[in-house]
Amino acid sequence: MDKLSRKTALVTGSSRGIGRATAQRLAAEGALVAVHYATNEDAAQETIELIEKDGGRAFGVRAELGVPGDVHALFLGLERGLKERTGGTTLDIVVNNAAVTTPAGVQPEDVTPDEFDRLFAVNAKAPFFIVQRALPLLPDGGRIINISSGLTRVANPDQVAYSMTKGAIEQITLHFARHLAPRGITVNSVAPGITNNGGPVFDIPEAVAQMAQLSAFKRVGEAVDVADVVTFLATHEARWITGAFIDASGGTLLG
Ligand code: NDP
Repeated sequence: MDKLSRKTALVTGSSRGIGRATAQRLAAEGALVAVHYATNEDAAQETIELIEKDGGRAFGVRAELGVPGDVHALFLGLERGLKERTGGTTLDIVVNNAAVTTPAGVQPEDVTPDEFDRLFAVNAKAPFFIVQRALPLLPDGGRIINISSGLTRVANPDQVAYSMTKGAIEQITLHFARHLAPRGITVNSVAPGITNNGGPVFDIPEAVAQMAQLSAFKRVGEAVDVADVVTFLATHEARWITGAFIDASGGTLLG
């Protein structure tokens, strides 16, 4: 379990959900993980404690994405944390995971320009500039993994604006994969289906039973189901995969 020893990783939005599970899995493989979060410091601290309890290494970085100066603030904290622990600022693995969704029940007719801008600022603009800012820190053979959504392949009108942002993040994957291939850096998208992120809806058995029907396996995904896919893409074994859309939806897209 040390496929990522001596590697460093940033997982945006790893205080909770899929990001937390990803941070845990990367750390379990030996990576030093920057646990990024926006506001939920207690949850980020819990992620770090879970990692350390298992013998891994992690540190927290707070930065709200989607506001002016967001990526600069993120990288100030990230570089400081890396320097303190490794003596340098090499960043081997970037996981663009943090995102916001359209609030439940908002119809396409009711999406406001402000809400639209916020979705794009957090889910598309921030990941683009995170990749751009990470380029000088990424060594040859580095890894960029962008978390998309099965909703770029399946229509859900309530989430049209959110899904548009995920279409955008897949474009980051496509074009940076070509741009960074000469350096052996791979760039891939991972698309979860409905995944238990610990949110309140997953405490309602009827809702979970209904959501489970969407997967070919007839269960909702667990965060670690997605984290394992991301972790594989971060390893040397995944060196021949780049520019890919990886369906990690438990067969939801089979229809
Ligand atoms: P959660 O909602 O459980 O967690 C979101 C994480 O992102 C938290 O760590 C949160 O930090 C952080 N975050 C949210 N907004 C901001 C912001 N403005 N600035 C910085 N950090 C922020 O996420 P999920 O685990 O559900 O989703 C993870 C990824 O998977 C997302 O990209 C999502 O779109 C995608 N996805 C999820 C699916 C699902 O069913 N769960 C399905 C398909 C795709 P804090 O704790 O501080 O608020």
